[in-house]
Amino acid sequence: MKKHCKVVIIGGGIGGCSTLYHLTREGLTDVVLVERNELTSGTTWHSAAQVTNFGAVQTMVGLKSHSIKLYKELAADPENPINYHHASGGIRLASTQEHLDGYKHFISLAKGMGVDFELIDAAECAKRHPLIETHELLGGLWDPLDGDIDPAQLTQALARAARKAGAEIYRHCPVENVYQKPNGEWVVQTVNGDITCEKVVNAGGYRVNEIGDMIGVKYPVISMEHMYFLTEAIPEIQAFGKRVPLLRDPLDDFYSRQEKDGLLVGIYEQRCKTWGMDGIDPNFVNALCPDDLDRCLDNMERVFKRMPCLERTGIRSIVNGPITYSADGNPLVGKTPGFDNLYSIIGLRAGLGEGGGHGKILAEIIVHGESEWDTWAIDPARFTRHANTEFTARKAVEDYQNEFRFHMPHEFRPAGRLAKTTPIYPVLKEQNAEFGVVSGWERALFFKPDADFKFEHSFRFTDVEKVVADEIKAVHEAVGLMEVSGFNRIEIKGPGAAEWLDSLTCSNVPKKVGRVGLCYFLTDKGNVVAEATLAKLAEDRFWYGSAAASEYHDMDWLRSRLPSEGVELVPMTNSHTILVVSGPKSRDLLAKLSPRTNWSNESFPWLTAQPVFIGHAEALAMRVSFNGELGWELHVPNEQLYLAHQLITEAGVEFGLKPFGSLATESMRLEKGYRHWKADLITEFDPFESDLDRFVKMDKAANFPGKEALLAKAGTPARRKFVTMVIDCEHATPHPGDSVCVDGAVIGTITSAGYGHRVQKNIAMAFIDPAYANEGTEFDVEIIGEPHKAKVIAGQLFDAENARLRS
Ligand SMILES: Cc1cc2nc3c(=O)[nH]c(=O)nc-3n(C[C@H](O)[C@H](O)[C@H](O)COP(=O)(O)OP(=O)(O)OC[C@H]3O[C@@H](n4cnc5c(N)ncnc54)[C@H](O)[C@@H]3O)c2cc1C
Repeated sequence: MKKHCKVVIIGGGIGGCSTLYHLTREGLTDVVLVERNELTSGTTWHSAAQVTNFGAVQTMVGLKSHSIKLYKELAADPENPINYHHASGGIRLASTQEHLDGYKHFISLAKGMGVDFELIDAAECAKRHPLIETHELLGGLWDPLDGDIDPAQLTQALARAARKAGAEIYRHCPVENVYQKPNGEWVVQTVNGDITCEKVVNAGGYRVNEIGDMIGVKYPVISMEHMYFLTEAIPEIQAFGKRVPLLRDPLDDFYSRQEKDGLLVGIYEQRCKTWGMDGIDPNFVNALCPDDLDRCLDNMERVFKRMPCLERTGIRSIVNGPITYSADGNPLVGKTPGFDNLYSIIGLRAGLGEGGGHGKILAEIIVHGESEWDTWAIDPARFTRHANTEFTARKAVEDYQNEFRFHMPHEFRPAGRLAKTTPIYPVLKEQNAEFGVVSGWERALFFKPDADFKFEHSFRFTDVEKVVADEIKAVHEAVGLMEVSGFNRIEIKGPGAAEWLDSLTCSNVPKKVGRVGLCYFLTDKGNVVAEATLAKLAEDRFWYGSAAASEYHDMDWLRSRLPSEGVELVPMTNSHTILVVSGPKSRDLLAKLSPRTNWSNESFPWLTAQPVFIGHAEALAMRVSFNGELGWELHVPNEQLYLAHQLITEAGVEFGLKPFGSLATESMRLEKGYRHWKADLITEFDPFESDLDRFVKMDKAANFPGKEALLAKAGTPARRKFVTMVIDCEHATPHPGDSVCVDGAVIGTITSAGYGHRVQKNIAMAFIDPAYANEGTEFDVEIIGEPHKAKVIAGQLFDAENARLRS
């Protein structure tokens, strides 16, 4: 057994073996996998092992496509063939117009990744799947490449290929402890001896938190029991002549695929159960949980109604095993925040279908620091401390109960709510706020005109547009007040702070005390990794502000680049909250509340910051605005938030103050061309492709991350170009992921969209083929399956001169 190597992977299921395989494909062969028992003795051995292509974001579609392609190649090895039923096809059923609208959107999204799905009607569903009844059915999404694979053969094939390339696998080698030495090296202690390595990967399946406990990490992953049953032979299948397609039924909460001449039917029962919450028997190896089909009786009735042949068919066996779930249903693939050189590929709930792609992504991250695709959807840094075990369990149960029901636009489900609230949550609730969730924080989406107002979730425009329009009118004509909960804020201080920040960003760091500036940070490959508002509060003190979701991500990125002395990072996200006071009357309102501050344009110009009093509450006021109107962000310590909010609300009456929410802000920022991190700013593109040229200072002395990469590729054509466009469509905006097309061929992908109420236009942002990025170029955008004319616009749609911001 090796005593030293580059990477140790703990766990020999599909996750671990796929990572091992892909590391060798990336040229890293000094790698070891340790498995406490046999390969595939965790969840992988009893998986239903369906391999599908459907995904709600493009990265998921891409990584699943990679799995399919890889499995096909591996299966074609004549010496070690794998039982892979490639392209049996599969149907996701739809019973409502919303389902159909959603599928049309997902079809367009997949098209951008080169994947062709098809929308079929109920009769066609029945034609392609000979066993189903079509009651309550409107149609379905057809995925031609769906199939299923032998999970053990697949895992062995990956292991075999990795071994052949030089990787080593130690079976019957339980890991008992993992720690990091002061020099940064990791030590993986196994029953057979220690291995010292540069990097460690947790691929421990349902034992993820046993390994986490060794390191001191609580991963937001728990296990659910999950059951399927296998039937006797079914004559209709024997007569069908080809393999019966896979079926996913969001109405009746089950899936099925062909197994021999019968069916495998998996149930997502409402009366579902978590598993292993109080510890896992060390002898649970190649094991199953006791059968409990009684839990599924409600579903069974509906399943039998959908596939009546089951009433006449015997059940051959039942499989009930643990399946891991994260707090949002997506796995945690990537670097563990807070640690150097610690990675995970965990929380895989569809690990057979996705595992090929996850392994590819993780290997790219380990070897190159980033993947071909933006991986935010599966980045471990997307969860913060609120995603504790009990929270994760609640979300996992909810997710399991809704397995095939995708989220509608702006849909925030009830489990695990109120995980993070500010002191004014009850006040906003009293004002009829409809809340969404950002990184666990409750944040007002909009304020209902009355308590009974129902927020319909739809891919089309709904009544909420009118409510949002009224909020915007108040901000535009008078003054509005919005709470931005959870905004990520880090104080960066010390004698080396200014120089260190300058060495990290491609932008200019504000030089004068009191100045505020927008800065971008790049990966070593020169792609956009972070966006922050930097406020210089003293010669040696800055506030770094970024999107709420970036809290762990940005802190981790900064921490791992911290010099040994001279700079300190102090997290402030949980101690302060922003109150945005914005609109033409905001100055008068603030002057009334804070008479000793001079709020005039001369004394308090745009892009500056000053400590102020709001009544007797303290705040740092920044004259910045994400909505394009005159306004200030008041950064208030949470213990005085209620006070500040109350004072502003009371004083605001005479100025026509109205509360507004994040949907109004979303509309207004689109009109101003402002970006959202991880929607319009992704690590797939560099700052020039992202149309951030004015923020990139290539001539600055500092050798910021990404500079060399940008210099090296200077003059090479952009892969994509970021544009803003207006669209001719009366009934809906596009949705992120929708395709931009010319003559039906995809030339780009929508990143954000919404209706601009001040300019009365349907607006979207997208990364598109640079050949179509010039002002005035026309093309189509697919909205709910239909092409609509769109035109590129240059500059900002609203107040392009920033006159209101500077007023
Ligand atoms: C009933 C059922 C049906 C399913 N159907 C599908 C499906 O149709 N399609 C699909 O894509 N997915 C399906 N899944 C999910 C899929 O099987 C899992 O996502 C996948 O198998 C998880 O793989 P893994 O590598 O993460 O975990 P595992 O397979 O559990 O592997 C983890 C490994 O880590 C090892 N390990 C743990 N601790 C240590 C330690 N301390 N030292 C050394 N080794 C350790 C374990 O022994 C184990 O071998 C299904 C799951 C279930 C339960």
